[in-house]
Amino acid sequence: MKIVALAGGVGGAKLAHGLAQILPPEDLTIIVNTGDDFEHLGLYISPDLDTVCYTLAGLANPDTGWGRVNETWNAIANIEKLGGPNWFRLGDQDIATHIERTRRLKEGQSLSQITRDFCKAWGVRHTVLPMSDQPVRTIVETDEGDLPFQEYFVHRRCQPRVKGFRFDGVDSAEPTAGAREAIQSADAIIICPSNPWVSIDPILRVLFPNSYPLTPIIAISPIIGGQTVKGPAAKMFAELGINPSALAVAEHYENFLTGIVVDSVDSELAKQIRIPTLVTDTLMKSNADRARLAQETLHFIGNLP
Ligand code: GDP
Repeated sequence: MKIVALAGGVGGAKLAHGLAQILPPEDLTIIVNTGDDFEHLGLYISPDLDTVCYTLAGLANPDTGWGRVNETWNAIANIEKLGGPNWFRLGDQDIATHIERTRRLKEGQSLSQITRDFCKAWGVRHTVLPMSDQPVRTIVETDEGDLPFQEYFVHRRCQPRVKGFRFDGVDSAEPTAGAREAIQSADAIIICPSNPWVSIDPILRVLFPNSYPLTPIIAISPIIGGQTVKGPAAKMFAELGINPSALAVAEHYENFLTGIVVDSVDSELAKQIRIPTLVTDTLMKSNADRARLAQETLHFIGNLP
């Protein structure tokens, strides 16, 4: 079965890794959000792309889900000593990724080419594509004004109240080379359990600006029992006046979604969802959990009416 997976950072990376444990490299393309990308300390940082690649490569920090395992923090500690900004934590190994990526971008290479080369160096065999080689920047519209995503997410710790979102550049951003072909030949598109507002919506806007493909599209809810595993998705739903739940996720994607996977704790709620629904354990604590959820999702897709 050929699959295209759409992923943000931590939640997306876990399911992408589950799929990669099952599917051969030629059958899985992971398209990753770049709306969170930003420049910091003169470096081009692509947090979701790095989280997905590090996770697939077995290099991710298992405690945080982002950053590198066995990381050291000398560079950022010294930047702090010099009075530089320290609100965005960058480990030493991670910084090497950003330095080399920035150097290559300045030489004129594309983000997708650089990602392909990095994946090769890290031993990642499945295809990982940034959603676009052109910049798209997620802006969080809050009661304290418009904030670039990392300013809201990391610097302000998601405290300002959300009023809406904007994806600057999205109308002129083209999907990366290979993304359209992967979608055309896919048997299904899987929306990983990532933040619908800021991780998945930007990808959908770039890939499907006018209409959705006829390919089945299946989502895994990132909301379990009304809460997120991590991050502000539930808070965002609530601040926008929507009760955060797996049902709200289904409704968020209702114009195009074929089926949804929700957690066992939401089995009662699942009865209110009007599209085919798989109820199973969706909390991925181990590599085995990731593979099992990926396998069950593929099985669910195979049995869709
Ligand atoms: P970010 O860019 O790092 O915030 O990552 P994502 O958007 O990919 O992931 C954030 C979302 O992933 C949150 O809404 C979490 O609730 C969800 N998430 C994280 N881990 C899991 C998990 O094991 N299972 C499910 N169902 N959702 C998860």
